[in-house]
Amino acid sequence: MHKLENMKLDAIIVGTGPGGATVAKELAKRGKQVLMLEWGPGGPVKGNIIQYFFQQCFPGKGMLITNNFLGMVRGITTGGSSLFYYGTCFPVPHDMLKKYGIDVRREEEEARRELPIATLKDEMVTPMAQRIMESAQALGYAWTPLQKFMYQDRWRPGMKFGYYGDKHRVKWSARMHAEEAVAMGAVLLNKARVSNIILDGNRATGVEFKMKGRSYKAFAPKVIVAAGGIGSPVILRKMGLKNVGYNFFYDPLITVCGKVDDVRKRIDEIPMTAGVHFPEDGIVMTDMAIPTLIDKAFTAQVLRFWRLFETRKTLRIMIKVRDDLAGRLTDSGGVRKKLTQADRDKLMKGYDIAKRILEKAGAKGIYKTWYLAAHPGGTVKMGEFLDANLKVKNYENLFVCDCSVIPEPWGLPPALTLVCLGKRLAKHLAGEKTGANAAAPSKAKPAKNKRKKAGRR
Ligand SMILES: Cc1cc2nc3c(=O)[nH]c(=O)nc-3n(C[C@H](O)[C@H](O)[C@H](O)COP(=O)(O)OP(=O)(O)OC[C@H]3O[C@@H](n4cnc5c(N)ncnc54)[C@H](O)[C@@H]3O)c2cc1C
Repeated sequence: MHKLENMKLDAIIVGTGPGGATVAKELAKRGKQVLMLEWGPGGPVKGNIIQYFFQQCFPGKGMLITNNFLGMVRGITTGGSSLFYYGTCFPVPHDMLKKYGIDVRREEEEARRELPIATLKDEMVTPMAQRIMESAQALGYAWTPLQKFMYQDRWRPGMKFGYYGDKHRVKWSARMHAEEAVAMGAVLLNKARVSNIILDGNRATGVEFKMKGRSYKAFAPKVIVAAGGIGSPVILRKMGLKNVGYNFFYDPLITVCGKVDDVRKRIDEIPMTAGVHFPEDGIVMTDMAIPTLIDKAFTAQVLRFWRLFETRKTLRIMIKVRDDLAGRLTDSGGVRKKLTQADRDKLMKGYDIAKRILEKAGAKGIYKTWYLAAHPGGTVKMGEFLDANLKVKNYENLFVCDCSVIPEPWGLPPALTLVCLGKRLAKHLAGEKTGANAAAPSKAKPAKNKRKKAGRR
C-alpha cells in the first residue's frame, strides 16, 4: 500500500473485465493516474484446471447456481471473464445503443484497429468445426466463419485453446488491457474486494475495500464501477441504490451433441469458429469444441454415463438465446431468475435445428446438455439508472462500465461492445468529445505518480 499513499489519483476503477480494463488503459494512455481494484488474483496465467477452478468455477464466487439450477460462471481474476472466454467477437448493437444516446462507431473502428479481430485462417478451422459448417450449409443455413479475438500469428498447430487461460497469449483478453494500463503508470491491486462507495452527499469520493483481511479506503475524483453484471449491482445496492439488479438477462445456453465415427477431435480444436445468428428469433448457434474434462462434466450432468468416453468422437453445437428480462439478485449477488416459457421455446427451436445439422453430419445418439449461462447483464441499465455518459443518475462522479449497463435483451457475446463503451467513457472522463464526429484521441502520455490521497483506514 505504500505506493498508493504517495499518489493523487484521478480515477478508481473497480474490476478489470473488458469494461473496466479498457477504461483503465485509455485513461492511463491520456496521462491520468488510475487505481484498479480487482477482487481476483493476478499472477502468471498457467492455463491449468486448478487455476481455472479457483478463478472461474469456485462455488459461490466464480460459479453461481440459480434457483432454476442453472450454472453461471464468471472470471474472478485480472481480466474478468475474458481470461476464460471463447474469444468470439460479435457485432456492436449500434441501433440499440443509439436509442440511449450512445454512439460508439468511432470507438469500434479504433478497437478493430488495435485488437486482433478476424475470422480464423484455414489451418485453424479444425475438422469437427468444418464438418458442422458443411452440414449446416448443406441444409441451407447461413453458417459462416465468426470473428475471433486471437493473435493468429502466435498460434501453432497442436496448441491447445486457452479455455483455462491462455499462457501462449494467442487469445486476447482484457488482462492485456490491464497490463498495458500498468505499463503506463496505473496501479493494480489484486485480491482487493470493493464493498461500498464513499459518498459526500450525492458525490462519490472513493471506495471502501478489503485486501488480505484488512479494510482500506481509497479516494479519487472519479469512481468507475466495472465489477461485472453481478458484481456492480451488489456494490451499488450497498451504496443505497436499492432498485438495481432486477429484470436482467443472462443469455442461457445448451449444447447439443452426437457421435461420429470418421472424425477425431484434435487437441488444438478452437470453439466458436463458425455459426449462424437468427436475429428475429434471438438464437445464435456455433460449433463448440470443449476440453475433455468439461465434456465429461456436461455428459455426467445429464446422466449419459455410457457416453463419457466418446469425447474425441463428439460433434457439439452450442445454442444461446436472447432471454426475457426477469429475475432479481440478492444483496450478496445470488441469482434468482427462472427461464420463461419463451426462453425454453427458443432453446428447443435451436435444439431442433442443431439436431438436423448433426444428423446431416452423420452423428448418432444426439442429446442435449443442461442449461448454462455466461453473460449476466442488464442489472444497472443505461437510460434507467445511467445517463448517456454512463454516469449514475442523481449521483456525481460515479460511473458504471460493464455488462450491467446493457439496457435490453440482446443475446450475443458482448466483449467488443464493452471495449467500445470503455473507450467512450475514458474519452468523456478525459474531457474529450465522444461520438462519430469527435476529434481523434489525444496522444499517449504515460502517467506520472503524483501526491498522496489514498490510505488504509
Ligand atoms: C465460458 C465463457 C465464454 C465466453 N465467451 C465469450 C466470447 O466468446 N465472446 C464474448 O464477447 N464474450 C464471451 N463471454 C462473456 C464475456 O467474457 C463477459 O461478458 C465479459 O467478460 C464481461 O465483461 P465485464 O466488463 O462486464 O465484467 P467481467 O468480465 O465480469 O469482469 C468483472 C471484474 O470485476 C471483478 N469484481 C467483481 N466484484 C468485485 C468487487 N466487489 N471488487 C473488485 N472487483 C470485483 C471480477 O473479479 C472481474 O474481474 C464468455 C463468458 C464465459 C464465462
